[in-house]
Amino acid sequence: MALNVIMMGPPGAGKGTQADRFARSRGIPKISTGDILREAVQAGTELGLRARAVMERGELVSDDLIIGIVQNRLDRPDTAGGFVLDGFPRTVAQARALDGLVAGRAPLIVVDIAVADDELVHRLTARRVCSACGTNADRAADAVCGRCGGSLVQRADDREDVVRERLRVYARDTRPLIEFYRGRPTFRSVNGAQPPDAVAADLAAAIEDAASGAGEQVR
Ligand SMILES: [Zn+2]
Repeated sequence: MALNVIMMGPPGAGKGTQADRFARSRGIPKISTGDILREAVQAGTELGLRARAVMERGELVSDDLIIGIVQNRLDRPDTAGGFVLDGFPRTVAQARALDGLVAGRAPLIVVDIAVADDELVHRLTARRVCSACGTNADRAADAVCGRCGGSLVQRADDREDVVRERLRVYARDTRPLIEFYRGRPTFRSVNGAQPPDAVAADLAAAIEDAASGAGEQVR
């Protein structure tokens, strides 16, 4: 059965990395709206040109436009075995539209990587970047950049008050989406407060479990 996965999780949960990793392990595409927007703009498709015009005016790309671009992406043949969506849907309106786009396909499997706020604050405020070359430090304990020897600093975005506000906004915006999906038999939540390898293993098991349950329902 095709694995049609939506990966969700707060900033700092490692969602993008886990989405990449799972997609690569199954040979299915990871689809992030940021990437496909950039692709559409570069390819100069009609939707891409419209998106570029909107972004050049400094406005947010509308639900309709995003949904159109996602639809074009899902229509490509490499999604036959499944896909991992990262960063889409962001709103209940987008989620409803997505249900329409995948009608007739294997059911959507929604995985939420759950991490407590205090742990996210700890992770995000520990991040340091090089003041000279902008590289992220591998370890917060390092004093200088491993690449150029520049001094490591905290980004303004990673200050505790800013991080707490980002998490508050994320929770506010995402709660309706989680509620939209939570009642489905293919919704899973995994514990993201573990080392990345353990999270990856739990994610894979949760997705397999959801897929086999869904397969039984279809039969
Ligand atoms: Zn550096």
